Amino acid sequence: MTKNYKKCSFCGRDSKDAGLLISGVSAHICENCVDQAKQVIEHETASRESKKIPSFKLLKPFEIKNHLDQYVIGQDDAKKVLSVAVYNHYKRINKLKSGTPKGETSHPDDDVEIEKSNIVMVGETGTGKTLLARTIAKMLKVPFCIADATVLTEAGYVGEDVESILSRLLQVADYDVASAEMGIVFIDEVDKIARKSDNPSITRDVSGEGVQQALLKILEGAIVNVPPQGGRKHPEQKMININTNNILFICGGAFDGIDKKISSRLMANAIGYGVKDKNPVDRDNLLQYIAPQDLKSYGLIPELVGRLPVLTYLNPLERDTLRQILTEPKNSLIKQYKHLFRMDGVELVIENNVLDYIVDKAVEFKLGARGLRSICEAIMLDIMFDLPSHKQGSKFVLTLKYARKQLSKTNLERLKVAS
Ligand code: ADP
Repeated sequence: MTKNYKKCSFCGRDSKDAGLLISGVSAHICENCVDQAKQVIEHETASRESKKIPSFKLLKPFEIKNHLDQYVIGQDDAKKVLSVAVYNHYKRINKLKSGTPKGETSHPDDDVEIEKSNIVMVGETGTGKTLLARTIAKMLKVPFCIADATVLTEAGYVGEDVESILSRLLQVADYDVASAEMGIVFIDEVDKIARKSDNPSITRDVSGEGVQQALLKILEGAIVNVPPQGGRKHPEQKMININTNNILFICGGAFDGIDKKISSRLMANAIGYGVKDKNPVDRDNLLQYIAPQDLKSYGLIPELVGRLPVLTYLNPLERDTLRQILTEPKNSLIKQYKHLFRMDGVELVIENNVLDYIVDKAVEFKLGARGLRSICEAIMLDIMFDLPSHKQGSKFVLTLKYARKQLSKTNLERLKVAS
């Protein structure tokens, strides 16, 4: 082979037969192959575009709530608000897909555009915000991902671009763009990107306001250039376009101290209107009165609050709720342990006072619902270690004495950090 001998690296034709031969760094392509490649690209693009948008069975709000009831204890207000918002969101999508439903007569207002109903949930950590969002996504069988607002930064700074949220959704959807475009994104710790003071600052606030600005675009619905692998965008990377118009964003945050903002607003209103105590304020649970302006006073920019039109709250978990969480949900912790034991042919019996003890410890150490799991793990570790050696068909009775002994070996303060 002479040094100058060239042939098409795709079809093997040599330069004599290939017509125009285009050279790259270490390969060549003939005009014939360029033509064919163009056709392949056109075909693929067309079939991707025509891919059917997944359709779902639209559950009614009460059906959505009934479903949530099986997995999430309490939080009735949040469940109701979420059920209606999710119902309306997917009704809106169905309308966009099909126009006026068959069999229904058209109405002069049919071209009214229904706005997106992104949601914000306010409540202490570990009260079920993520669980609610995840349960809804599972029920609808749509892609779901969780993004942590604290790792996001404005483009150009160390951290992740806001678009990386969509990369994650795309990954969960197995890179099926149409399905990702119907997904649900849970943005956790949205309170951590609040601006530090109520006054818009002159200097840019890298971790806060800049990120809020960047979020605006994807929240309201836009075609966003997404790096498929996530992380930072860089110029050579191939991008995928995602339309966020039908993606439901659910934001969650603890908004520590927001009760003070709520309280001062309520006070101001009461004074302003000279209202006498007709409906006395329940001071122990001020979150139930939360309103969009409280989020603004907390440091979310008005535009962002405007794009999160559905606002709801979660109650702190009382002792009784924690006790229910342990046993009642469809996949409660205790049901899971019993199942694990059954898989090894052993019946697990837990005495009632052990359950009370677990809850007492979670309350005493302020571990919340997440702590229930850490406590159970600590109690169960030794027995689970020995489980495969137990006789098939045997029974293990978990007594209070055993639970106490196991937990005394554990540093609960450490669990607090872990949970
Ligand atoms: P958040 O997102 O509010 O911080 P999570 O939804 O992640 O809290 O809750 C942490 C864990 O606690 C959940 O995985 C679940 O096991 C349990 N949990 C919290 N709240 C509830 C609830 N209301 N009902 C059932 N389980 C709950």
